[in-house]
Amino acid sequence: MTDKSCEGSTRIVSLAHRYETDIAEFSFGAIAYDNDSVGRWLSVLYALLEGASEALEISRDDIDGTLSWTPDGRRSFVLFDTVPAGAGAAKRIAENLGKVIQFAVDRVTRCDCGEETSCYGCLRSFRNERHHDKLSRQGALSIFAELKVEATPEVVDGPWGETLAYTSQSVIELLLKLSKRGVQKPELGVDLGQHYWPVEAVWMKPGVVLVEGYDEERDSGLGSDGYTVVKVEDTDADQLAPLLPAG
Ligand SMILES: [Zn+2]
Repeated sequence: MTDKSCEGSTRIVSLAHRYETDIAEFSFGAIAYDNDSVGRWLSVLYALLEGASEALEISRDDIDGTLSWTPDGRRSFVLFDTVPAGAGAAKRIAENLGKVIQFAVDRVTRCDCGEETSCYGCLRSFRNERHHDKLSRQGALSIFAELKVEATPEVVDGPWGETLAYTSQSVIELLLKLSKRGVQKPELGVDLGQHYWPVEAVWMKPGVVLVEGYDEERDSGLGSDGYTVVKVEDTDADQLAPLLPAG
């Protein structure tokens, strides 16, 4: 499924693979495809995968995708689980396609690399190394523009007017809510404590640190450095705002 060598090897294996793995396939109506536009289509494909990973909190390693064709000859996107037998990620993507597309557009719009290129903050990953020279923000954005999907302005402008290119959307959304409630602007994306743990945000005065993902060593380390550690996954603006200074 993932690369041609697999598909060509033995037919039975490739067919079996198709059915053991969840696949989400979709195409975008009337958008034309020609050989010159393969880079644009690949750029959309990888934007969608990154968008799905952010929007649905699926590890990017657990999903991948490829370009395919619909029976009536249109180019389509196939997104699938890389986990054997599937972990339901493709199904969730299919069920939440609107959100996935929105996150994809926001991500590609807010990145600060050159539009004619791409970076690890938007479209590139180690998995798509062979396509890096073809991937561009502009390419993805041109197709999203044809689909009339626009970026969410406040996500792109960012909380406290700060464009956060390398920050996940769930962190941005939480920070946006806090900024709207008049919470003081924290230090964003800094390394903190004796062991320089990377954190999403810190309010130095009460010593409240916002982190993403689970890392016990980091959390206990920051705790013994005297910080109150709050995980993005475990909190919301209602819970967090009262702990924070007003700006
Ligand atoms: Zn970029």
